[in-house]
Amino acid sequence: MRLHTKILLGLLLGAIAGVTANLTLGGADPRVVAFDTYVAAPVGQVFLRMLFMVVMPLVFASIALGVAGMGDIRKVGKVGGKALGYFLVTTAISGTVGILGVSLARPGERLDPAVRADLVAMYGAEAGEKAALHAKGGFGIDTLVGIVTKNPLRSAVEGDMLGVIFFALLFGIALTLIDERRGKVMVDVLGALEDVMVKIVEIAMRLAPYGVAGLVFGVTARFGFALLVPLGGYVSVVLGGLLFHGVVVMSLLVVALLGISPRAFFRRVRPSLVTAFSTSSSAATLPTNIKVAEDDLGVPPKIAGFVLPLGATMCMNGTALFEGVTVLFLCQVFGVELSIVQMAIVVAMTVMTAVGAAGVPGGSMPLLVGILAMFGVPGEAIAVVLGVDRILDMARTTLNVLGDLVAAAFVARSEGAWTPADLPPLAIEPPIDQSPDWPREDEVVPRVVPVRRDEQP
Ligand code: ASP
Repeated sequence: MRLHTKILLGLLLGAIAGVTANLTLGGADPRVVAFDTYVAAPVGQVFLRMLFMVVMPLVFASIALGVAGMGDIRKVGKVGGKALGYFLVTTAISGTVGILGVSLARPGERLDPAVRADLVAMYGAEAGEKAALHAKGGFGIDTLVGIVTKNPLRSAVEGDMLGVIFFALLFGIALTLIDERRGKVMVDVLGALEDVMVKIVEIAMRLAPYGVAGLVFGVTARFGFALLVPLGGYVSVVLGGLLFHGVVVMSLLVVALLGISPRAFFRRVRPSLVTAFSTSSSAATLPTNIKVAEDDLGVPPKIAGFVLPLGATMCMNGTALFEGVTVLFLCQVFGVELSIVQMAIVVAMTVMTAVGAAGVPGGSMPLLVGILAMFGVPGEAIAVVLGVDRILDMARTTLNVLGDLVAAAFVARSEGAWTPADLPPLAIEPPIDQSPDWPREDEVVPRVVPVRRDEQP
């Protein structure tokens, strides 16, 4: 069985087991909690941690190498500019899709005030914590200055990806400016470091079917399904919007910008989508994403390694859509009417905060509090939606990651570094169950297989 089929199966089994446990025994049942605490969560966490483990070294090596590979600062600026342009335009489109959806469906007006009061009572404390987080780390001039890290190691330790990206950019640029022979040594070292990290990702991905099952079990077993009824309108608008953007808008972008069929594209990027869905984290998905972009889409490493880490923190189509819907929904719930101009401001804010949000589960929540405050809705209002957030986070992260992949291929194509003909044929993976002493070189089945007609771009 192919690895990504196994991962999908893990996702499905985890979800079925979790939903069944929740609906029959209940999320708070001691047996369910014990199974989650001692079996499902540890397996999921080990998988997640193995991905997080490689993020910082991988970001550093891949960006520095990408920049050094481009050779000249103007080229770096051009590629970076294109990537940023793509991030901003597509994020604005998705934010607008969200705002339109929620304005048409108006789910907030139908929320029972008694339910609202219950939710605020139930999730008020957690919402307060997020609001406090916002007060500490809002989006301002300090955020921009903070990108210039004082200490790249501390940035790496604290998970400050923008700081690491900035240092890596500078490192790559400086690498092109020093003596060529010495520079070559560093490039070799970084190349080896990147290879090692990618290898660790491969090992981690072998755990993915079990890890994904564990993570999804935990979320679904403890999920408040009862909340889906009162919040059904809101949840449907978010999921419907994400689906619309993910399927319709993304397919159009794939055809228009990449010149390939959406089917060929989506079939190749499945491992990234499943990883994003189960981890709810763009950062945790980044290692898989780099591998998928290079191996399955054929994007050259110097572009993939440069655009994808930027995208993991800055390109969040799903998050912007979610934020747009949530802000307007909560305005409806709390009786705040917004004018067209204010809605345009919401779109602009969702784009900015989606760029600023960290690619971790719930990373956008503190920033969302900030937007709500701008329109006179108390930050604690997010208590109303917190109970269903994890499911929405899984879905929006999937779209975030999808956007990063399209961005990488688009930038590569516009730079003349990739054409539809570079799309590798669908790979056959080594049969993972039949290689106990993996990895043995001689057991690896060559990835190249004859191209089926319908797969040709
Ligand atoms: N979990 C999202 C991501 O990692 C961020 C968010 O919207 O909370 O992409």
